Amino acid sequence: MPPPPAKTRPASTGYVVESRLSKGRLEIFSGREYEKRTRIKAGFLGFDDEIPSLPSGKPLPVSERWVTVLSSQYGCSISCPTCGVSALPFKGNATFDDLWRQLVEGRSCYPGVNYAERLAIHFTRMGEPVLNGAVFSFAEWLAYDGKLKIQEELGLRIEIIHPVLTTMMPEWDSTVERVMRWAALKNHDFRGQACLRLSINSTDEGQRRRMFNGKAMTLSKIAEVAEQLPTPLGRKYCLDFSYTGNNLIDSQALAKLFDAERFICRIHPARETDACRRNGIKTIDPNAGSRALLPISDALESAGFDVLVMMPHAAIDKRKGPDQATASDYSRP
Ligand code: SF4
Repeated sequence: MPPPPAKTRPASTGYVVESRLSKGRLEIFSGREYEKRTRIKAGFLGFDDEIPSLPSGKPLPVSERWVTVLSSQYGCSISCPTCGVSALPFKGNATFDDLWRQLVEGRSCYPGVNYAERLAIHFTRMGEPVLNGAVFSFAEWLAYDGKLKIQEELGLRIEIIHPVLTTMMPEWDSTVERVMRWAALKNHDFRGQACLRLSINSTDEGQRRRMFNGKAMTLSKIAEVAEQLPTPLGRKYCLDFSYTGNNLIDSQALAKLFDAERFICRIHPARETDACRRNGIKTIDPNAGSRALLPISDALESAGFDVLVMMPHAAIDKRKGPDQATASDYSRP
């Protein structure tokens, strides 16, 4: 029997597609991205200016930068208190075919486009991707046969596929092996054109336990894993901080744990989700611009890190009412 048709609705920079796949409903985002200089402050990239308020403007066409955000799981077993996905029932992992079908749906949002300079594939809509082995085999396949299949069956020629793995590093037997597998994929299969992003958020273990519902490795254990990673080809690995205004970030302690030659720090304001409101978690007002993140970014730079401050686009932040998994652009806080 053919699968029921997917439901597509417009979002601020693209489309959210809801499909019925092997275990139920899965959502993806497919759309455009804004020019870096409108929303990023990163001295090491030559973007030195503060971003005074929420940036606005037109996103780039998908033929230049196409972004897809796929779900790796049906719900999520981690249940972070800031995340809307926690409210959904957990039904297990997306299969390889579910991931492919999400990509097909994402492609179908722009039927007239047959070339993209760059397609970024994030696995951050719903679920913790390290817990799903299919994410890794799917990404490896994309580097070779998958890219060809997208061209031949979906009529889309892509210059660069850029897969991004963002993980909170779950305390689990296979996490180390999976992260090593992604590092190999980054260096070999994608020749540097892939990203490994570790969600750190805080250097205080008490805060981290609360933020990740007690299910993340400790920071010192993550640092031990980081030591084993090969030297990154292309972009450095990334330590990610979703900043609420209360995160304790000890830049000197961080610099002792992670090699600034191999890791950059990325900071962005945490989104105010329904889950944040339900759980009494306050967030900073991103309308104040990147200045609110200046003390943290300066401290991290002084500790030797390259720092990238990323602001949400005005159109995205206006949509902060509903939980992400059901109605907006990103599934993560
Ligand atoms: S933030 Fe990520 S790991 Fe945490 S509940 Fe949401 S989807 Fe799961």
